[in-house]
Amino acid sequence: MENTLQRFLFEHSNIRGEIVSLDSSWKSVLARRNYPPSVRKLLGEITAATALLSATIKLDGTLSIQFKGQSALLLLLAETSGKSSFRSTAKWRDNKELAEPNVNLLAQGTLAVTITPKKSGQAYQGLVNVDSDSIQKSLEEYMQQSEQLTTRLWLASNDQKATGILLQKLPMEHRDVSDDWHRITTLASTVTNEELLTLDFETILKRLFHEETIRVFEENPVIFSCSCSENRTEGMLQSLGESEVRAILSEEGNVNITCEFCGKNYIYSSSGIDRIFSNESRESTRKTHGFIN
Ligand SMILES: [Zn+2]
Repeated sequence: MENTLQRFLFEHSNIRGEIVSLDSSWKSVLARRNYPPSVRKLLGEITAATALLSATIKLDGTLSIQFKGQSALLLLLAETSGKSSFRSTAKWRDNKELAEPNVNLLAQGTLAVTITPKKSGQAYQGLVNVDSDSIQKSLEEYMQQSEQLTTRLWLASNDQKATGILLQKLPMEHRDVSDDWHRITTLASTVTNEELLTLDFETILKRLFHEETIRVFEENPVIFSCSCSENRTEGMLQSLGESEVRAILSEEGNVNITCEFCGKNYIYSSSGIDRIFSNESRESTRKTHGFIN
């Protein structure tokens, strides 16, 4: 049950559902940074939403949801790699706004959903302006506008768990399922944050939909995993440019890069920087890129 995503289907109406529970994997995210509670709550919601949306796409690649804010909350970023691992992080300004209960940290922000295929093809990004105080409403709007998919989300998070339910109306020929959709989403809307955060999948689905016929699929694991690496860090330094990197080196004595997601440190002394910008290394990077493209 822990760190899993479960898909299900309402047999006769072609409405699909998913429920996700991130437990120790979510705590791994929290262990790396000291998030203010209001930021942590929204980051948990966006992380659960990313896992849920990622499982609805067929593509093998990464799906990320990024929120950029105008308030003390500057950034929320959650990303899945494939369907079974995720990472997430946030940026904020220390500000009393973060602790005030009635401040909408999402006000005037934007949400971007990006899908990047693993092998070939272009990344695809869709944007939506946030004009509510909830991640779920903004994403529902996004799915309707950009994907023409009627979708409802229920998200909850605390310091132990990030969790959520997704329902999506799939196109169905020869039958209007509006009544089913209305009935099933009305039932789902009775779920409380408390229930989402404390009950197991079976109990939640039974409580909400005991009169419906649901086909439940196998559970998939969802773990925390960071895709940062020495290779990627060096690629990033190369794209920053040699003069810029050497300027940092002479100022700081070494070049110290900390991964925003997992907190891992990549430290380069001057010999490391020499190696990164040697002709040989540049050549091999070019070759690798040529192969990928
Ligand atoms: Zn990392």
